[in-house]
Amino acid sequence: MFDDRLEKVNDECGVFGIYAPGRSVSELVYLGLFSLQHRGQEACGIAVSDGDMIHHYKNLGMVTEVFNQNTLNTLDGYLAIGHVRYSASGQSKTQQNAQPIVARYQHGEIALAHNGSLINGEELRQSLMERGSLFHTTVDSEQIVALIASHGHDAMEQAMLKTMIDLKGSYSLVLMTEDTLYAVRDPLGNRPLCIGKLGDEGYVVASETCALDAIGATFLRDVAPGEIVTVDATGLHSTNMFGTDKQALCIFEFVYIARPDSNIDGINVNKARRLMGRELAKEAKLDVDIVISVPDSGTTAAIGYAEESGIPFTQGILKNRYTGRSFIQPTQEMREQMVKLKLNPIRDALEGKRVAVVDDSIVRGTTSRKLVKLLREYGAKEVHMLISCPPVKYPCFYGVDTGNPEELIAAKLDVDGICEHIGADSLHYISMEGILRAVEWSGVGFCTACVSGEYPLGVPCNHCKKSK
Ligand code: SF4
Repeated sequence: MFDDRLEKVNDECGVFGIYAPGRSVSELVYLGLFSLQHRGQEACGIAVSDGDMIHHYKNLGMVTEVFNQNTLNTLDGYLAIGHVRYSASGQSKTQQNAQPIVARYQHGEIALAHNGSLINGEELRQSLMERGSLFHTTVDSEQIVALIASHGHDAMEQAMLKTMIDLKGSYSLVLMTEDTLYAVRDPLGNRPLCIGKLGDEGYVVASETCALDAIGATFLRDVAPGEIVTVDATGLHSTNMFGTDKQALCIFEFVYIARPDSNIDGINVNKARRLMGRELAKEAKLDVDIVISVPDSGTTAAIGYAEESGIPFTQGILKNRYTGRSFIQPTQEMREQMVKLKLNPIRDALEGKRVAVVDDSIVRGTTSRKLVKLLREYGAKEVHMLISCPPVKYPCFYGVDTGNPEELIAAKLDVDGICEHIGADSLHYISMEGILRAVEWSGVGFCTACVSGEYPLGVPCNHCKKSK
């Protein structure tokens, strides 16, 4: 199987929730999840309530593979949540681990979908098991459900507040009971979560604003760090006992994860990527003929680089969009062909040219090495790599798969060593100051742990000594 997740930083989830009295919402959730598909392609699910009972369906696969009209017809109701999932390395890819997680507790049913990762998930699970909780999955989102249920004598909002005291790490949650929708963001707002309005009475919550656009909802605002938003028959209510001035929004949302047409905490992703390209151009001045990108995620930064440097941007590599997870490659010979099948250089654009290639990151370096070789084979006279993110050296504990720490090339080699490994004429990464300049004008604070080694939400206990 061609697994390009090994070459990229991958998010692990996208969440969506909707409360729309008088409407049947399962098709809207389908559209919302479809627009969040880039955040997770391994599994997805929808839970729906008609006010009395929660029905749900989830399975392994992409949104269009898991759901069809018949499945959606069985999910009737005006209140729903949905989830797309990308499991972290080492986590089992089973139907059980798909979300939403649906459970029955003292007051009825609850369904939960989670984007992010807890750093104290293991300890919470152990302590809950010692108190008699049973678990059906291996995802830490189930601990959140169990904790809420353990406060079952309280009203839901109180139970959620008490649960948040115990949670450490990253979480953007959408939850529902039979008649109420909740949206919750961790106190440092590590993962995005926004609210939209749908018609006169409807509300939508989603990981990214592109999901609001997809169903014709209007952006209202972002869920604030530490906030619990409740939507029920009386309208939208908010509680925030945990928010502070600090924030640790994942900077990789702007480098790679989020869609360019989304806005997160007031920052348009496309604008941030262009500014990263511009900053890169100020730091890495090159004497080249053209700027090209590794499509798609390198393209906006490449345009920014071209704007700032005055060097023309052109399409030098064509991306085949149809090589997905399920693409089988039975032989080693075919494996060698896979990069070319996915990213094919355009000879006419490259022949005899000194080329600057912009990409968003280098994880293992394998694809970059093959790509540099290919660009030379297709006539490029010089190949200079430009990366719009500083070197990824450290693992992410907050819900993003930065790859196996032992395989991160920047953890093993310095920039010259990486340049030699990938066979480029030169290699330039944007500096930490440069990438922050591209987003800090927003006033938002960022997590940069996978490039800086400084973890604003802490690290799991078993990593305390290993991490900086
Ligand atoms: S460690 Fe990196 S990928 Fe993880 S949340 Fe922080 S910036 Fe994002």
